[in-house]
Amino acid sequence: MINVSGLNKSFHQFAALSDVNFTIKRSEVVSVIGPSGSGKSTLLRSLNLLVKPDSGIIQIGGQQINADALHHRQIADFRRQTSMVFQHYNLFKNKTALENITEVLICTQRLPKSQARERGMALLSQVGLAHKADAYPSTLSGGQQQRVGIARALSVNPQVILFDEPTSSLDPEMRREILNLIAGLADKNLTMMIVTHEMSFARDVSDRIFFMEQGKIIEQGKPSQILSAPLENRTRTFLHDFA
Ligand code: ADP
Ligand code: MG
Repeated sequence: MINVSGLNKSFHQFAALSDVNFTIKRSEVVSVIGPSGSGKSTLLRSLNLLVKPDSGIIQIGGQQINADALHHRQIADFRRQTSMVFQHYNLFKNKTALENITEVLICTQRLPKSQARERGMALLSQVGLAHKADAYPSTLSGGQQQRVGIARALSVNPQVILFDEPTSSLDPEMRREILNLIAGLADKNLTMMIVTHEMSFARDVSDRIFFMEQGKIIEQGKPSQILSAPLENRTRTFLHDFA
């Protein structure tokens, strides 16, 4: 489903990603862990072309781009392969919960308004928020806002959903509720990459874990191996300092 090779990205000489390579299969759930500044967000954002890589080839679903020869025309199609769920939800503040979902469907998927509404309501029901369809983000709790963010990500039927610390802004109670929601999606055979600091969650939902440091995937493997018996000292140190 995802194939990345030779991915590089620097910001002013600083290598945020340096020769990243990996493959993810359809329906796989991969958690990405690692210290702050190790390039986790840059990796996810590169997959969505929110960040333009300096070099590398990325294939997602049926689309492939080469950063060295990125054509403007390819970008929209490539972006449609993934959707992102952000730490700070990134909802449109002046739109209701429902409109946050339908806006995307109407503008990018060209769905008629009535169909977009129907789809939006079904998704809000799925995340337990049908009763908040007409509420504005400022009147919703963090957990509820993130539910809208997840419903919006699902609405476009992406090949892959990318989660960037989806629970880091939430207090523990709401964190649990969002983690349960994401775990439910994992059971539905969606392909997902999840940047997270929730190690027990990563252990429970992931098929594999990537450990990143200084712009590289230092180590990857099954959760039991990475979290309990890492091969690399750097992974061990991170987990030790983290716990
Ligand atoms: P993580 O998500 O693992 O905390 P990031 O991918 O956000 O790490 O950042 C990796 C490195 O790249 C950091 O040193 C960060 O300061 C730098 N970086 C990220 N985005 C930018 C940007 N837009 N401009 C300059 N530096 C950036
Ligand atoms: Mg980050």
